[in-house]
Amino acid sequence: MNERQILLGNEAIARGIVEAGCEVATAYPGTPSSEILPAVAAFADALATDTAVEWCTNEKVAFEVAAAAGFSGKRSAAVMKQVGLNVASDALMSVAHFDIAGGFLLVVADDPGPHSSQTGQDSRSFAMFAKIPCFDPSTAAEAKEMVFDAYELSERHHLVTMLRPTGRVDHCRQDVELGEVIATERPAQFKKDIKRWVCLPANVRTSHPRLNEKNRAIREEFEQRYDKYNYELPAEGEAKLGIIAGGVSFAVVKDLLDSWGRTDIAVLKIGTPVPLPLGKVEDFISRHDNVLVLEETYPVIENQLHNREAVKGRWNGAVPSAGELLPEIIEGIILDALGESPQSPEDDLLGKAVEELGIRPNPPMMCPGCPHRASFLAIREALPKGIFPSDIGCYTLGVNQKTVDSVICMGASATQPSGFYLAHKVDSNERPIVATIGDSTFFHMGLPGLVNAVYNRHSFVLAILDNSITAMTGGQPNPAVGSKLRKGDEGRSVDIAGVCRGCGVEYVKTVDPYNVPSAKEFVKDAWDHAREHREPAVLIFKHPCMLLRCEQERIPVAVDPEKCIGCRYCIDFFNCPGLRFDEQNNKAYIDERFCVQCGVCIAACPQNAIVKQEEGAE
Ligand code: SF4
Ligand code: SF4
Repeated sequence: MNERQILLGNEAIARGIVEAGCEVATAYPGTPSSEILPAVAAFADALATDTAVEWCTNEKVAFEVAAAAGFSGKRSAAVMKQVGLNVASDALMSVAHFDIAGGFLLVVADDPGPHSSQTGQDSRSFAMFAKIPCFDPSTAAEAKEMVFDAYELSERHHLVTMLRPTGRVDHCRQDVELGEVIATERPAQFKKDIKRWVCLPANVRTSHPRLNEKNRAIREEFEQRYDKYNYELPAEGEAKLGIIAGGVSFAVVKDLLDSWGRTDIAVLKIGTPVPLPLGKVEDFISRHDNVLVLEETYPVIENQLHNREAVKGRWNGAVPSAGELLPEIIEGIILDALGESPQSPEDDLLGKAVEELGIRPNPPMMCPGCPHRASFLAIREALPKGIFPSDIGCYTLGVNQKTVDSVICMGASATQPSGFYLAHKVDSNERPIVATIGDSTFFHMGLPGLVNAVYNRHSFVLAILDNSITAMTGGQPNPAVGSKLRKGDEGRSVDIAGVCRGCGVEYVKTVDPYNVPSAKEFVKDAWDHAREHREPAVLIFKHPCMLLRCEQERIPVAVDPEKCIGCRYCIDFFNCPGLRFDEQNNKAYIDERFCVQCGVCIAACPQNAIVKQEEGAE
């Protein structure tokens, strides 16, 4: 019997990728997908495979690197989160038309809700848009199994296949069967063929009909051959309700029906929603009078039906058209569809316990001692009337310090300042503009905006918050760090200042954010330069992330109650978990449970009420 192990959903997917003989795996980190690539590296190390495993600078890069490995006949995988697919979509739309030589798996982790994304989009829609097949797992074990089928399908039809887990599958834990690595004899053999590998319009005129033909054939296969993913759980006797469900919604429905002991509801599980096995679905609908469709997050199954009127779902408002389908929401939807009410009103025991204990949820905050907090303090104090575009990362929490005014998507902090600059320039006006971007995000998509600003001569300061880690997604390295995932595989760090100079930026300075007074002067100086020379200036705020636990001087601090006037500036504009406010006494105080003694808050109080405490002082 094969060994079994309890794995995170993302680890199960990673294990599948390694066992399936993938030889090139790439990714850009993003919740909920981030654990997949490190787990691929760990399994590849443990199983001693030669798999190349690499973080890339962004998802488009990851996709194209893996695609070219697929052109060479290898099994490859590109991994990303749903908004990462927006970045990779340009390449996806082209590569979907290619007759790939090897197996090419695209893993896209969706974030219904969303919990940690700027959108709650559904990547199955992208699969439809690109006309590639999509597997939608309900459990970790199924996700692993789907990896093998996705590769097999990819190789048989020579096209990209998508595995689309959602966050609950990525982050569930399940007992999963482990297997051996499939031995593959696939020497890299890129066969030159411009009709196959060059997306010239003339080639697309023939490859698009071929892609349509592949879709027709795959739809047929999903009708006939994939019963393990598309199957019916019939009702006993006449069904009061038929539910069509995919992904985690299927798992929730099954749990609910089991816990209710109900056998009068039939369920059709759909694990391959694109292209939809339409015959199977419409046969189910024809045999049930009352049909509900449950899927996250868009009506992808519903949209493929010939008659959406025949079902209850998102189109008729039976299912909410945004947000995650949590068990309590699905329960309400099913009962509504049945015309029943809950047997006993839900008893919110957890809510009551939290109420009794007086626990108040804290809003998200940067960690104590986070260098970003110090950077935002310096920026805001240097140019309080400035406009502050920002980006995706921990530092988006600079909103708490009123130093983040707009965020769009990865890299947009380097482009928005150009728009703010031009909007004021056409009015013969100007306003200080300081944009913030993290080190990883700078390499991801910040560079084109910076080059554009140099070329077009736009005045603003780009503050690159270099904490030597991709912190928000769990601490992955990035080009500025230079380390790699596989044991014994060495990378090289890319110098941010050198890159900026190479892009034509004349003013590039590195600042220690912990030295707030000095950093403030740098911000003013950089803006003066940008305004005077009509060009972007770059400040690199360099200090390691607290998660790296680097040794640093400890500076114990205290609030002097004699000096504190209760203005709350330190709370409203500095926002450290180590600083609290005593409403009764109208004074700030240090919460030693959270304070890491970085000493930065000394610079935050306009009254100089936060003071360095001498060693041993109470
Ligand atoms: S410590 Fe300073 S900033 Fe904070 S409330 Fe007191 S006076 Fe205001
Ligand atoms: S010293 Fe101040 S800024 Fe640093 S962690 Fe403690 S309270 Fe926060």
